Amino acid sequence: MSPRDQGYIEMADPGPDSVVAKFDLHVHTVFSRDAVNRPEVVIRVAKKKGLRGFAVTDHNTVDGLNSFSGEKELIVVPGVEISTGSGHLLGLGIYECPVKGVQLEEAIDFIHQRGGLAVAAHPFSGFKMGMGKALLEGAKVDAVEVFNASNWFPRSNAKARALRVGGKTGGSDAHFPWEVGNGYTYCTKLNPGSWEELLRAIKGGETDGGGHLSSFSERLYGRLKQRFGDFRPQREESLR
Ligand SMILES: [Zn+2]
Ligand SMILES: [Zn+2]
Repeated sequence: MSPRDQGYIEMADPGPDSVVAKFDLHVHTVFSRDAVNRPEVVIRVAKKKGLRGFAVTDHNTVDGLNSFSGEKELIVVPGVEISTGSGHLLGLGIYECPVKGVQLEEAIDFIHQRGGLAVAAHPFSGFKMGMGKALLEGAKVDAVEVFNASNWFPRSNAKARALRVGGKTGGSDAHFPWEVGNGYTYCTKLNPGSWEELLRAIKGGETDGGGHLSSFSERLYGRLKQRFGDFRPQREESLR
């Protein structure tokens, strides 16, 4: 069975009627140095894949947020992925980023002081910096990313789901256009009219995370293109 198939099985399938809206709440753009997603491409792919919106979560910068201010059709959640001393933390609903080298507690306070939501990103990923250990030791986040499509192993997501800490989100962790929407947060009751409503739904336990793991070829293609240059996102045209 391919990792992709396993990813599908792992998803808590809510059935077609109970998904009201989908949001990819973990998307990188060119403002993350390791990503090639141009803002206009992210918007185009998100629409093509039927997302209601997405969160911009670049690594330790909010410089890309302005590029999305003109988008009226989709809900764009402002955010950032913060590298804390204990692992990666998503700050959703904020327009600022704490200073480099911040500790987890400080980062959570920083997010809360600005009215945002602190979400543990890929807590049990084998290759990314997850804060699984801190969560097991009682770190207080508002939600956990229970589905991250860039995890290599389904068990990383299963472990995150088993934590049962706060609300639940999902996201692609996309660094390349074709990955956008592979993971998502879905709402089971409310169809949010704004990102503020979405964040309240997450906190209120009215969301879950699902999707399928990005395939090996999707990742390899991106990394090779990035490594050897000549990057042309021609696969945008063949997006499912
Ligand atoms: Zn990360
Ligand atoms: Zn990320």
